Amino acid sequence: MKAIVLRRVREPLTVEEVELEEPRAGEVAVRIAASGVCHSCLHAADGSWGEMPVPMVLGDEGAGVVERVGPGVTRLQPGDHVIISWAPTCGRCHYCVTGRPVLCAEQMPFGYLMDRTVRMRLDGQDVYHYGPATYASVAVVPESCAIKIRDDMPLDKAALIGCSVMTGVGAVINTARLQPGESLAVFGCGGVGLNAVQGGRLVGANPLVAVDVADNKLEFARAMGATHVVNAARQDVPAAIKQITGRGADYAVVAVGDARAYQQAWDSLAPGGACVAVGMPAVGQPIVLEPFSIIGFGNERRLLGSRYGSARTFDDFPRLVDLYLAGTLRIDELITRRYSPDEANEAFRALAAGENARAIIEF
Ligand SMILES: [Zn+2]
Ligand SMILES: [Zn+2]
Repeated sequence: MKAIVLRRVREPLTVEEVELEEPRAGEVAVRIAASGVCHSCLHAADGSWGEMPVPMVLGDEGAGVVERVGPGVTRLQPGDHVIISWAPTCGRCHYCVTGRPVLCAEQMPFGYLMDRTVRMRLDGQDVYHYGPATYASVAVVPESCAIKIRDDMPLDKAALIGCSVMTGVGAVINTARLQPGESLAVFGCGGVGLNAVQGGRLVGANPLVAVDVADNKLEFARAMGATHVVNAARQDVPAAIKQITGRGADYAVVAVGDARAYQQAWDSLAPGGACVAVGMPAVGQPIVLEPFSIIGFGNERRLLGSRYGSARTFDDFPRLVDLYLAGTLRIDELITRRYSPDEANEAFRALAAGENARAIIEF
């Protein structure tokens, strides 16, 4: 099968004919229709999250059709349409049964499937899986990473639900549980941030402020529902947000891996407000919070981690699909470019340059 391979960190991706093994027990093989071009994959390729085992197939956002199922798989069958999740769930551990399956104890060891082996080979060498490794025409994933959806959902749109939509919308509706009329500021308007803006629109956040340093991204944010935009390259962000909201933001979602954005978000909060951490700065880059700013006079602020939008994938993915088909969730507006696998390096360049809202690679 055809796959986009990272042969070495900080070097261009190559398209290769990769050998793929049959799915083993509890696994499924999914023919990938489309895969989103996600910033976490760029971090893996450019070395900002440290060294990666290589060769590796990236891709953590995709959707497709089940092609084959391994022994013991009963929930899925060939022909089922699925969205790929990058977070397996066992359904039995403490976190799974108490409604926080993103914290499931049974995670995939980095670079491998659950049993610490790979299913891909290139020139006789093992090829590592970056999570579900969706930058390929077929991906073998654990059964719990393939979430069945309605057949009438277009798969190119469904792909984005697997990471950016879930992470951004989920940060607002699942992690923050924002209420109508509470104010929200979203820092960073890439694929995840635009979906945090969208999550704010879905639940009636007001005012709904988008913050970025790029005017084109602030325009995308308006299309997703932002009522106000602040350009952090030109404006004093905390002052601008206090002026727009009156007392500061009730919630600030940080959807960019930048320590300065965290500082600005924290300084923009209203008393009692919460900062929702989504974006991951480069390894070793700290954020510094003065305890007085958490619990001093008039503060009582909170910092909330949001992993994968606190996804309950089996419930959230079909719900987001229904919202898209009902015309409520906007995905078409997010897809600003489509690439073929051979254009993967161009897709990464455009992502680093911030040219697209979200791009997809179609197989
Ligand atoms: Zn992602
Ligand atoms: Zn579990």
